[in-house]
Amino acid sequence: MLRKSLSFLLSHRIRILPSQSHAGASFSFSSSNTLNPCTSLEDQANENNQDSRPTETISIDRSGLYNPQDHFHKLSADSKLVKHLKSIIKFRGGPISIAEYMGEVLTNPNCGFYINRDVFGACGDFVTSPEVSQMFGEMVGVWTMCLWEQLGRPAKVNLVEFGPGRGTLMADLLRGSSKFVDFSKSLDIHLVECSPTLQKLQYDTLKCIDEAISEDNTATRTTTTLNGASVLWHADPEEVPSGLPTIIIAHEFYDALPIHQFQKTFRGWSEKMIDVSEDSSFRFVLSPQPTPASLLYLRKRCEWADKEEIAKIEQIEVCPRAVELTHQIAKRISIDGGGALIIDYGKNEIISDSLQAIRKHKFVHILDDPGSADLSAYVDFAAIQHSAEEASENISVYGPITQSQLLGSLGINFRVEALLKNCTEEQAESLRTGYWRLVGDGESPFWDGTEEQRPIGMGNRYLAMAIVNKNQGIPIPFE
Ligand code: SAH
Repeated sequence: MLRKSLSFLLSHRIRILPSQSHAGASFSFSSSNTLNPCTSLEDQANENNQDSRPTETISIDRSGLYNPQDHFHKLSADSKLVKHLKSIIKFRGGPISIAEYMGEVLTNPNCGFYINRDVFGACGDFVTSPEVSQMFGEMVGVWTMCLWEQLGRPAKVNLVEFGPGRGTLMADLLRGSSKFVDFSKSLDIHLVECSPTLQKLQYDTLKCIDEAISEDNTATRTTTTLNGASVLWHADPEEVPSGLPTIIIAHEFYDALPIHQFQKTFRGWSEKMIDVSEDSSFRFVLSPQPTPASLLYLRKRCEWADKEEIAKIEQIEVCPRAVELTHQIAKRISIDGGGALIIDYGKNEIISDSLQAIRKHKFVHILDDPGSADLSAYVDFAAIQHSAEEASENISVYGPITQSQLLGSLGINFRVEALLKNCTEEQAESLRTGYWRLVGDGESPFWDGTEEQRPIGMGNRYLAMAIVNKNQGIPIPFE
């Protein structure tokens, strides 16, 4: 029974498929090669048939692109987001970057993937570590308390989580640490969340209440009844107030930040962009000349890499938002003290081609019904390290280490043993499965469901990196 109920906790976001051959989909290109910003795409297509002379408008060269099989979309009414994306492309007069597409698809304030619904768990689209087991949030809590000790047990500290999802990690962290009264009392919690729906869910998960702090009841303060700490929400990391030592947790946040993709062509690097074809479907195209992103972000990323590393790859992904966010984190930590723990799937090197879309636990094509599937990309931990180190000399970067090393060193083995001593047989099975998924590697050996649904261990594919103020010494378990 429990196995059955666990069987839906299967897919999480890093199941790897062959490069860009996502299920049932392929790229679609048209043969027109210029876009005039002043005319509609249809007019433009007609013009191109009559006159193929180069113009000063954005021209699109498809020569370096992978030539796929035809991809047929069932014609259906465009969603609000699809209409919005098409209108951007139309009024811009040319294709948009993958980063812009990804930003709109995930966080468009009206119809982005994250904005209006709960996308996690069995009935959602994917499952994350905090949803797999309470032990994940508890272990992150151990890390947080240790850093607080290293900070000298400050009376007040900002505990910040970027992208808290359902709020499960924070709830488990607060419950697990609630016996440590001085620590609990020190916390001002700041949740950085762009989705109003998820903010509401986080409010409920943290069992929040609003207390009047003025006599006329107009001013209120939100606290969590899990440990009495105050809780504030922010749509943007920059809104988190400064002035207190700060501990930041970012679990599966970086992978949702928009990436640019570049492809090696005979002319050098071209940016992969998204355009609308004559049949009104989205398609990938390549920029024929350098784009602002290639001049700024790609150049910067290549400066951080070895020439040999660049020579080996045909594609590069660059995430400027991750670089900028890390810069802000490092600056903040260097001034206010504290540290950040970043856990995500990724690599400690340039990422080549990792963007993926997941809907209802299955891979789908990146351009298929945008807004109805999660988009995510591997995190480039090497770029994070470079960005943090460039931002300040007062911080140190540690890791990445694997999730399995992180949780193992923080004591997950002891925790699972302790929990197993006091639970039902059903709970024991759930604990063991959860434990294995968090620290295990490869396909689960303990599985009696279908092969397709066999869980994949997160232990080695998720990595953890810490950025701390040098005054705090080395954070556990990065010694
Ligand atoms: N950390 C959670 C959820 C990960 S999903 C977990 O592990 O379960 C990514 C989370 O980041 C979601 O809560 C999403 O709404 C939020 N998010 C994504 N992009 C964001 C952005 N640009 N600004 C603020 N929040 C964002």
